[in-house]
Amino acid sequence: MVRIAGAAEVTGETARPFIPLSEPVLGGNEWQYVKDCLDSGWISSVGSYVTKFEKQIAEYTQTRHAVATVNGTAALHTALMAAGVSAGDEVLVSTLTFIASANAIRYIGAHPVLIDVEPQYWQMDPNLVYTFLRDQCAWTNGRLINKSTGRPVTAIMPVHVLGHPVELTAIMGEARRFNLRVIEDAAESLGATYNGRPVGADGDIVCFSFNGNKTITCGGGGMLVTNSDYAASRARYLTTQAKDDAVEYIHHETGYNYRMTNVLAAIGLAQLEQLESHVTRRREIARFYQREVNLPGLTWFRESRRTRGTYWLSTALVDPKVTGLTAVQLREQLSVCGIQARRLWQPMHQSPAFRDCQSVVRGAADHLFENCLSFPSSPNLTSESLNRIRTAVTGAVHAAQQTPAFRRSA
Ligand SMILES: *Cc1c(COP(=O)(O)O)cnc(C)c1O
Repeated sequence: MVRIAGAAEVTGETARPFIPLSEPVLGGNEWQYVKDCLDSGWISSVGSYVTKFEKQIAEYTQTRHAVATVNGTAALHTALMAAGVSAGDEVLVSTLTFIASANAIRYIGAHPVLIDVEPQYWQMDPNLVYTFLRDQCAWTNGRLINKSTGRPVTAIMPVHVLGHPVELTAIMGEARRFNLRVIEDAAESLGATYNGRPVGADGDIVCFSFNGNKTITCGGGGMLVTNSDYAASRARYLTTQAKDDAVEYIHHETGYNYRMTNVLAAIGLAQLEQLESHVTRRREIARFYQREVNLPGLTWFRESRRTRGTYWLSTALVDPKVTGLTAVQLREQLSVCGIQARRLWQPMHQSPAFRDCQSVVRGAADHLFENCLSFPSSPNLTSESLNRIRTAVTGAVHAAQQTPAFRRSA
């Protein structure tokens, strides 16, 4: 293989380990619980670990019910069905999200309406939700109809982006006023609190993900929580092939094979035991960035006073006029040093898959997409790695500021 020496070789960075954005940290009882599944033969979609994991998530989130699923996207799809959202309905969703939120709405045959975020905390803007519902919808025969499409609006899907709670009180207020169901996408936010209460506690149906890079992981997995007995039993029914008679195999509806397996729940349960320490560590990492990588032109995300965020990914807004380089250029510089950084997701209204959807946008998500960068945030990051990141970011910014073009413009 022909290798070309680049900056990494020159600086000796290739000799150092790669620092990923977010990786699983399996430091607890994972081995023991998985071994228990293997030894007992209980490896599939029924078993005591599924039940225990559900019970403990329900306790943690202070909800009556938790239903485990194969992944977070399946939890969102199930939650929409359990909430009674139907084909042809419209669902308001944050335009700044991972594509799974919008995909789940499409699985139903429903239509996403993409709502911009507020610029301070980057979450779905309750004011835009309100003005859309007030000005662009009307009540007809007891249904809230979007005047421009003629379709009923039946639900809101706020997304707790980057592990930070949305202004839930305001969104729930609009939902109650306009008789809409609320399905929260809390995939990144298990462990966050809002007004001192765990995310999950005060929604209609709230969905979590245990993908490999989330605050806790099963490898892949999801969970929905709810206080509604009806929604929970619908969810349980739909995720297990809608079986009406377990002996005769009688079915009256199309169901899904969405149940989590016992092996995955065993990993999840061991991870849940470590959730508090993982969140604490992610918050320490965020504090390190805010204090130690405190350069002009870098604005680190900070949680609001009402919330405790998980700081799932520590993220900064980069002002290229001050730093001398764009978010993408900084990402490339860090990549050369073996440090992974990532932009936010392309807002759904820009995505080729969803840009035909109606949107209510004011440029906030566009600006964040253009200028934000997320930095390594795994709970197992060492102080040596953090210092390497500080040196690399500081070095990249100082180098950019030495270029003649920057000095002319400054
Ligand atoms: C990860 C994620 C999902 C999807 O979860 P999976 O478990 O990967 O299916 C959905 N929404 C958001 C915002 C996410 O970050």
